[in-house]
Amino acid sequence: MNSEFRKLPSVDEVLRMPEVEKFAKKSSHGIGKMLVKEVIERTRLRIQNGETCPSLDKIRDEILKNFKKWERIMLSSVINGTGVILHTNLGRAPLSRRAIEKIEKVAEGYSNLEFEVETGERGSRYSHIESLLIELSGAEAGFVVNNNASAVLLSLSTLANGKEVLVSRGELIEIGGEFRLPEILKESGAKLKEVGTTNRTYIGDYEKSIGAETGAILKTHTSNYLISGFVNSVSVSELSILAKSKEIPLIVDLGSGVLIDTTRFGLAHEPTIQETVSAGASLVTFSGDKLLGGPQGGLIVGEKELIDVLKKNPLTRTVRVDKLTLAGLQETLMHYLLGEAEKEIPIWQMISGSKESLEERGMKILERVKSEISNSIEFSLVDCSSTIGGGSLPGETLKSKGISLSSNKISVEEIGRRLRHNGVIGRIEEDSLILDLRTILPHEDNRVIELITNCKF
Ligand SMILES: *Cc1c(COP(=O)(O)O)cnc(C)c1O
Repeated sequence: MNSEFRKLPSVDEVLRMPEVEKFAKKSSHGIGKMLVKEVIERTRLRIQNGETCPSLDKIRDEILKNFKKWERIMLSSVINGTGVILHTNLGRAPLSRRAIEKIEKVAEGYSNLEFEVETGERGSRYSHIESLLIELSGAEAGFVVNNNASAVLLSLSTLANGKEVLVSRGELIEIGGEFRLPEILKESGAKLKEVGTTNRTYIGDYEKSIGAETGAILKTHTSNYLISGFVNSVSVSELSILAKSKEIPLIVDLGSGVLIDTTRFGLAHEPTIQETVSAGASLVTFSGDKLLGGPQGGLIVGEKELIDVLKKNPLTRTVRVDKLTLAGLQETLMHYLLGEAEKEIPIWQMISGSKESLEERGMKILERVKSEISNSIEFSLVDCSSTIGGGSLPGETLKSKGISLSSNKISVEEIGRRLRHNGVIGRIEEDSLILDLRTILPHEDNRVIELITNCKF
C-alpha cells in the first residue's frame, strides 16, 4: 500500500482538531462532518493519482475554507442594523408572530387551500384572501399573485395585450432589481404610449392620446424617486373620470400599498389602497411585503368584472401564490381588520417606535458590550436617521438612535466586514459603523450583543 495513504487522517481525528470542532458544532444538520469527509475523500483521490499526502494543517485549512464558503451561501437570518426598514436585499418585511404561526400550521399538515368544507367540493385558493381584501380596501373584488411585478404584468397582459397603454412620461420608472416599467409593458404584449413630459403631465395630454387602440391607462407610483419643482401629475380621481367616460380601464400600480395613514407617524402622506379605490381606479396593484408588512405577494383589488377576467388568464397559473404566502397574508390582513396592525406587525412597530424607547434599548446593549469587549473599539449611542426603503416614501426619514462602533486600530471597513461575517449588517457613516436600533427587532437585542462579542474586536 502507498505509504502516503497511512498519513491520511481519519474523519474523527480531523473533527477533534479544535478549530474544526468549533465550526462543526456551529454548523447545522451535521454538515460539518459531511464537509470533513468530503475533503478527506478528495485527498485520498489525489494520493491515488500519485500526489503526496498534505499536512494535517493543510487539510484542516481546506476544511475551514469549505466551512466558510458553505456558511456564506446558505440562506440564513441576519440582523438588520442598516436603518432601512423595508430592505429589499435583506428580505423586506419581517412577519408578525401570528403570521409565522399560521404559516407553520399550514405547512406542517393539510389545509382547506382549495377545498369547500361546507360542500366537500373543490374550492378556490383565492377565496380566503379575497373577502379580507374587499373588506379592507372597499373594492368589489381582490386577487393575489406571486409579487407585485407579476400583478402589473398580469393586469396589462389581460387588459391591454396588443393594445396601447397610456403612461405619463414621468412615471416610466425603473424600480431596481430588473423592474423597468417599459420592459414589463413590452412583455405583456401591450404597446407603450408615453403621455406628457417628464416633469409635467396634464389630463389633456391623456385625453388627446386616447384612440381606438387604447387598452388601458396605467398610473404608477414613482416609488423610489422624487421630482420636485416645476411639476404636475394627474390625480387618480381626475384620470378615473376620463377613463370611465372613454370606457377604458385605469390601472394604478401603488407599489407599496398601505392601509393606514402614514402622516400619523410624522411621515409624508403615502396614497392608501382605500383612497385609490374610492378615487375610481379600476384595478389597484401593490406588494404584500412592503408597507403592508406581510409576505411577498402581488395584490390586486378593483372591479369584479376585470378581476374575473384576470383570474381566467392562463398567465395566472404561472404566477400563482403558494399556500404559505396565503397563510401569512391572511393573518397580516387580519391585523388590519382587527385594528391592531401597529401593535402586531413588525414594520409598524419599527415605524412607530419612539426615539426614547430606542435609546433605552441602546443603553442596555452598550452597557453589556462595553463590559465584554476590551479597548479596541469605541462604542457610543448616536443620533441617526432611518428610512422606509422598498421604494416607499422616498426622501422621508425617521429620527433614530444607533450604536456607533469606531476604532483607531481597526478600519471602519474591517469593523463592518467582521460584523457582516457574524450576521450583523450595519452602515458606514464617516468613520463609524452604525447599527440603527430601529430596524433591530427588540427580541434580537441579546443576539446582537452575542454577535458583536463574537467579532473578537
Ligand atoms: C416595488 C414595486 C414594484 C414591484 O413589486 P414586487 O412586489 O417587488 O414585485 C412594482 N411597482 C412599484 C411602483 C413598486 O414600488
